[in-house]
Amino acid sequence: MTLAPLRGRGLWTPGLWSLDSGFWTLENHLYSYVSYRLVYGRGSNRPTIATRWIGFTLGLAAIVVPAFGRAQSPVQREAGFYRFKLGAFEIVTLNDCTIPYPTSTIVGLAPAQIDSGLAEWSLASPVGMTYSAFLVNTGTMVVLIDAGTGGKMSDNPGFHGCDQMLINMRRAGYDPARVDEIYISHIGPDHVGGLTTGTERTFPNAIVRAADDEIGEYIDSARARAAIDRASDRKAEQEWFDFQRSLFEPYRRAGRVRTFTGDVDLVPGVRALATHGHSPGHTSYIVASRGDTLIMTGDLLHWAAVQFAHPEASTVFDSDQQAAATQRKRVLEIAAKHGYWIAGSHLPFPGIGHVKSANGRYYWLPLVRPLRGRDSRLRALRAR
Ligand SMILES: [Zn+2]
Repeated sequence: MTLAPLRGRGLWTPGLWSLDSGFWTLENHLYSYVSYRLVYGRGSNRPTIATRWIGFTLGLAAIVVPAFGRAQSPVQREAGFYRFKLGAFEIVTLNDCTIPYPTSTIVGLAPAQIDSGLAEWSLASPVGMTYSAFLVNTGTMVVLIDAGTGGKMSDNPGFHGCDQMLINMRRAGYDPARVDEIYISHIGPDHVGGLTTGTERTFPNAIVRAADDEIGEYIDSARARAAIDRASDRKAEQEWFDFQRSLFEPYRRAGRVRTFTGDVDLVPGVRALATHGHSPGHTSYIVASRGDTLIMTGDLLHWAAVQFAHPEASTVFDSDQQAAATQRKRVLEIAAKHGYWIAGSHLPFPGIGHVKSANGRYYWLPLVRPLRGRDSRLRALRAR
């Protein structure tokens, strides 16, 4: 396995390029073993979100830690922010970081299918995975969809330096105090970690909204107790609940957390779309202005190079892999049929594009690509 296709993209420091295929094979085995024991290990018949994340972070540490003597950080910091006009709204992609991911996180596909997806994009494992949040300025409201890691994962060497979302928000001209509403796709640490800075609200004037199926347990102590009691590893579950509670509690105390159920309108132009599967209450958000529509898909897609060709493929992070695949196919179908934009937390920066359906599969048409001759943005550029 060669790393050459990623060379020169600023993702890795030069020391890592000397790693040979033997190391990556070892890493894949380590990852699989650690994840397997933690997710499916001794007596556990209910793989929890907590154990999945512990498995993943340990697995990622197994990738990065051995290389640390030669490489300070694999995190890409320079991606920044990207401004995009959707009708009368301004959408801003706010990058948190980009880190290397092994393809061993993909499930449900043969290795040859994964390799052919990567080859189509001239990639090889590991692939740089983007972490982004999205800001929507409707003209009257500033809405943030997900809140980044907030540096809460930086104790894991694989995520060291993954804390750029807030910096990029300020660079884009938005102070955190200007955020009116925060919509959570799900409770992954990379999506909710940034809610707090220390023990304080990062966004002091914001209302936080999320599906009841997703955060209800973390803001209601009786439901939390029942969920912890049900878990096979109560200690890990308790730690997970304590972490989640620490993020939501400052907002709850201030009366600034609201939950919803199903598909509901939130503010004019933004609507929740239940896409449960990646997590029990995973939610996408439909943003629409003056005939333009964008669906923010959260974690429906992790592997652009593979999952547009094979939307049936899920990942080890999907708590219900079947449901996640069903929702992924459903949203891709809607977007392709109606010509909607989609945005994804882990799609290649700036994470916005169109979807095309052809040859029994989907294709990703990223926003940043040559403009069509009749595109209004091209006319605007020529008129300058
Ligand atoms: Zn995520």
